[in-house]
Amino acid sequence: MIKKCIFCKIIKKEIPLDIVFESKDIIAFYDIHPKAKIHILILPKKHIVSVKHLKEKDKELIGKIILTAQKIARKKKLKGYKLIINVGSQGGQLIPHLHLHLLSGKLVGFP
Ligand code: 5GP
Ligand code: ZN
Repeated sequence: MIKKCIFCKIIKKEIPLDIVFESKDIIAFYDIHPKAKIHILILPKKHIVSVKHLKEKDKELIGKIILTAQKIARKKKLKGYKLIINVGSQGGQLIPHLHLHLLSGKLVGFP
């Protein structure tokens, strides 16, 4: 938990959120500024800055994040979707807490 990290605050429920899924190590919630009809963020509860910071020991966790996206998409009966991970500020990552974007429906802008 990094005090200044907005996603860590969300995980601690210090900021209101619209939860889609939660387990002991993963949380998923709706993006506050949706770029598509469905725009959900899926992230580890553990503060990992980005894909650049992933360690070998995180491989199960990152696998679970993708499978969580699959389960959410299945539950919402999404026919197709995009999974996007921005990496680093030059890769479009604004929040330095690793997260996967699940997008479905016409994109408005780019996450
Ligand atoms: P990034 O650009 O880092 O890949 O994506 C960050 C995403 O987090 C953006 O799509 C942005 O709209 C979303 N976001 C930023 N602050 C909040 C917040 O306080 N609540 C929620 N639900 N989403 C947020
Ligand atoms: Zn964090």
